[in-house]
Amino acid sequence: MKVIQHSAETLRKALVSDRQDLIKLYSKYTQEERCLLEEGFHPGDPYRKTPNASQNTIYIQTIGSFGEAGVQTDQYVEWLRQYCQAFFCGLSVKLLPAVSVAETGCSFRVNSNSHNLQILTGDLLRFLGNKKPKDAFCIVGITMIDLYPKDSWNFVFGQASLSMGMGVFSFARYDDNFYSRNYAGRLKKQLKPKKGDYSVFDGYYTPPISSTLLLRSCKTMTHEIGHIFGIWHCQWLNCVMQGSNHLDESDRRPLDFCPICLRKLQVSIGFKIAERYKVKKITGNKKIPGEASASQSALYFPKPTEAFHASRLWLRRCLDILEKRTSL
Ligand SMILES: [Zn+2]
Ligand SMILES: [Zn+2]
Repeated sequence: MKVIQHSAETLRKALVSDRQDLIKLYSKYTQEERCLLEEGFHPGDPYRKTPNASQNTIYIQTIGSFGEAGVQTDQYVEWLRQYCQAFFCGLSVKLLPAVSVAETGCSFRVNSNSHNLQILTGDLLRFLGNKKPKDAFCIVGITMIDLYPKDSWNFVFGQASLSMGMGVFSFARYDDNFYSRNYAGRLKKQLKPKKGDYSVFDGYYTPPISSTLLLRSCKTMTHEIGHIFGIWHCQWLNCVMQGSNHLDESDRRPLDFCPICLRKLQVSIGFKIAERYKVKKITGNKKIPGEASASQSALYFPKPTEAFHASRLWLRRCLDILEKRTSL
C-alpha cells in the first residue's frame, strides 16, 4: 500500500478558497478564530448528537399553568412549538398534553429569600424520563414556576441530562418584575406547605405574556436544545449559543445561531439554509398557512411580536443575500 503524505502546510491550505478576497480575509484571523471556523466542519465530534430515522421528534412538555386562562397557555406553547419547528427545520416538534405540577409528583418549596414557589429539577427530569416517547430525539419540560436543583441552592434556570436527551427550563425569572419587591409571585404570608399538598399551585401567579417573554423563551428553548445536539457555548461570535450569567447578557444574545453553530446544526439535521430562513420568516407572521387552529386562536390572543423586530429585519437581509446569490 502506498502512503501519501503531505506537509501540514499543504493540508492547511488545501481547503482554503482560491478567491483572493477570502484568502486575504482568512489570513487576518487569529489562530483561535480559525479554530472556531473549522469547528463547524467537524461532524465527527463525539459529543454531537444527530437525529436518526427512528428518533427525530422534539417533544415539549409543559408543567403547570402558562397564563391566566387555559386557552392562553395553549396559544403561548403553540407559538413556542412553531418557533422550534422552524428553528430545527426538518425535525418534527410536538407538544405532549400539559400536566399540572401535582401530576409530576415533584417536591417543591417556598424560597426563604424571594418567597416564591419553586420545584425540584431532579424530580421533573425523572418524570420526563418516564414520559419520553420512543421516537423522541429529546424531550424538554418547560414551566413558568421557578426551579431549584437541591436544597442548598437558591435557584436554577434549568437543568439537562444531555446523555438522556432531556432538559427542564423555567421562564419564571424572565418576568420583568421578578427581582422587584412587589413581584406578584411572592407569597403574601409565611406559608409552609405540607409535602404533597399541591393546592398552593392553584391559581399561582404566572408572568404576563408579552413579546419580551416570548422572545426570551424562544432563545432559551433553542439554546438548551442546541446543547442537547452537543453544541457547546459559542465564544467568539454573536450567537444564541453564547453562555450567559444573567438576564442582561442573555438579552444581548441574538435570536439565531452564528454561521458556525448553524453549520453544526445543518450537519446534524441536513436542512437547506435558505429554506430554513423562509420557514422562520413565515412563522414570524401571525397567520401560518395550513394551520387553522393557530390562526383561529390568534383572533383572541394576537401574537406579541414587537421584540422580534430586529431579528425579522436580520432574517430579511439574510434571505435577500441568499436570493441574490441564487439568481446570479
Ligand atoms: Zn448554555
Ligand atoms: Zn455560535
